[in-house]
Amino acid sequence: MCDFSSLGLADWLVKQCKQMGINKPTPVQEHCMPPILEGRDCMGCAKTGSGKTAAFVLPVVQKLSEDPYGIFCLVLTPTRELAYQIAEQFRVFGKPLGLKDCIVVGGMDMVSQALELSKQPHVVVATPGRLADHIRSSNTFSMSRIQFLIMDEADRLLEQGCTDFTKDLETILAILPAKRQTLLFSATLTDTLHDLKSIAMNRPFFWESKSDTRTVEELDQRYILTPEKVKDAYLVHLIQKFTDEHDDWSIIIFVNTCKDCQILTMMMREFNFPTISLHSMMKQKQRFANLAMFKASVFKLLIATDVASRGLDIPTVQVVINHNTPGLPKIYIHRVGRTARAGRNGVSITLVTQYDIHLVQSIEAENKTKLKEYPVVEKDVLKILTQVNVTRRQCEIKLESTDFDEKKETNKRKQLILEGKDPDLEAKRKAELEKIRSQKKKFKQNIHETIEKQKRGQLKKKIMKRKQKKKAGQTSV
Ligand code: AMP
Repeated sequence: MCDFSSLGLADWLVKQCKQMGINKPTPVQEHCMPPILEGRDCMGCAKTGSGKTAAFVLPVVQKLSEDPYGIFCLVLTPTRELAYQIAEQFRVFGKPLGLKDCIVVGGMDMVSQALELSKQPHVVVATPGRLADHIRSSNTFSMSRIQFLIMDEADRLLEQGCTDFTKDLETILAILPAKRQTLLFSATLTDTLHDLKSIAMNRPFFWESKSDTRTVEELDQRYILTPEKVKDAYLVHLIQKFTDEHDDWSIIIFVNTCKDCQILTMMMREFNFPTISLHSMMKQKQRFANLAMFKASVFKLLIATDVASRGLDIPTVQVVINHNTPGLPKIYIHRVGRTARAGRNGVSITLVTQYDIHLVQSIEAENKTKLKEYPVVEKDVLKILTQVNVTRRQCEIKLESTDFDEKKETNKRKQLILEGKDPDLEAKRKAELEKIRSQKKKFKQNIHETIEKQKRGQLKKKIMKRKQKKKAGQTSV
């Protein structure tokens, strides 16, 4: 049987693992740790909750113990909360070494971060935007000797989604030495492999978990088909049921927008569920505080946007509910991966409206798993429907009386300014693009209508000709 020692891990680290209740390597650790310890680059693609973090933290800590200096390792990750989670693992495994880490993320004080960086910590865990800001604005630290560059949730860092990290990554990569080990990890890595190969050039070792499915067997994946208007009533019913039956369960509800997050949080509180929220429009300190309270089970219900969908490791989470069906299978995989972690069981329930059926089909196809229907007594849901919908409307009105939308607009403008863009020019550009798009759409529609008209005309002519022929035939008889 494979154990940590046979993978090449030093005795003191094996002991450290045991103290944390980690006795046997998970597959991603078993396969990726030896090549990393040998000095090779590595790309690891394994299901969420399968021990990916320890798969890179342990070898880095071991190598650091052989030649300790700062800055030895840089870890990049897409979200601020994940950065704290990763740094914590470095701190725990590296305690006997006195490992010093520094967390560099947005929304926190930049001056104290710069001071910490100048003290040459062994490990820097950062989100790309803030680290790139530091590189552009100061020269008090050097990363020219780093031994390891690690990208966690690598596909998210490299894809051009709602946050595009490309420019920041270019700034960061420019100050790193070419001779280094590059480690890339994610649960959904394969799509961006080509990009990754250009970053990891040192004979990369590639490992992907063998199973067909992207989610773990311990996860019971369910759906509820519901009309849009009844969705919230189903949600309240489910939360009531779970909290009545299991007082030790924590639940995450994923929503599509910050505004929805805010409204549903207000609504759930009206129903006396201990609820807390997490979304990108909140102040960073509040985000950390809310997450800490949820982790400590002070609040059992977390309503979050996709800022919480990747990597977060909270053992008490037994249920994940998708209030909206994710538009991409990849987002679904990360969201539901917040439960059923490290061999534990968990349930995910996706609320599906009539408009989302094609999305469920693509999730099932990508994931090679059929979602099963979650049984609900419809009568019980209909009983609370009016009350739920009235409460939601009241919460919407309450939110409208605050400056939530204005704040959103201000945040957008701030972001554009930080990216070096003029918000007014951008708005103009967007409006022009929108105009061109709608003109194109109209043009396409006109062409379509003309073709249809022509087709109808030709068909009419054919029918007329046929009728005339028939008539001529009858008269000749
Ligand atoms: P991760 O996929 O890195 O987020 O890890 C998920 C959870 O699994 C964390 O709570 C880890 O502490 C735990 N874990 C990591 N490796 C092991 C292991 N070999 N055995 C048991 N639990 C582990």
